[in-house]
Amino acid sequence: MSPSDTHLSALLGQVDSALERMDKGTYGLCETCREPMEPDRLLADPLARYCLEDLTQDEQRALEEDLELARRIQSGLLPGPSLRA
Ligand SMILES: [Zn+2]
Repeated sequence: MSPSDTHLSALLGQVDSALERMDKGTYGLCETCREPMEPDRLLADPLARYCLEDLTQDEQRALEEDLELARRIQSGLLPGPSLRA
């Protein structure tokens, strides 16, 4: 299996698990504290299984980096301020 296949099958596994949680009615609930997750968190990561409070510091940092990257990509797609008046 190539690295991208491994990544894809991991992603498909996460989607399966999210669908299973929808079936059971536990989708959107943190698996650690059983509290509903922040709506923003689910929007940013629909496959999230833990609320922000229950992420480790490393996981929080990785998530912030992902969000920052997404922001930069988004702002790169928007027309920048014109240099000429
Ligand atoms: Zn939690």
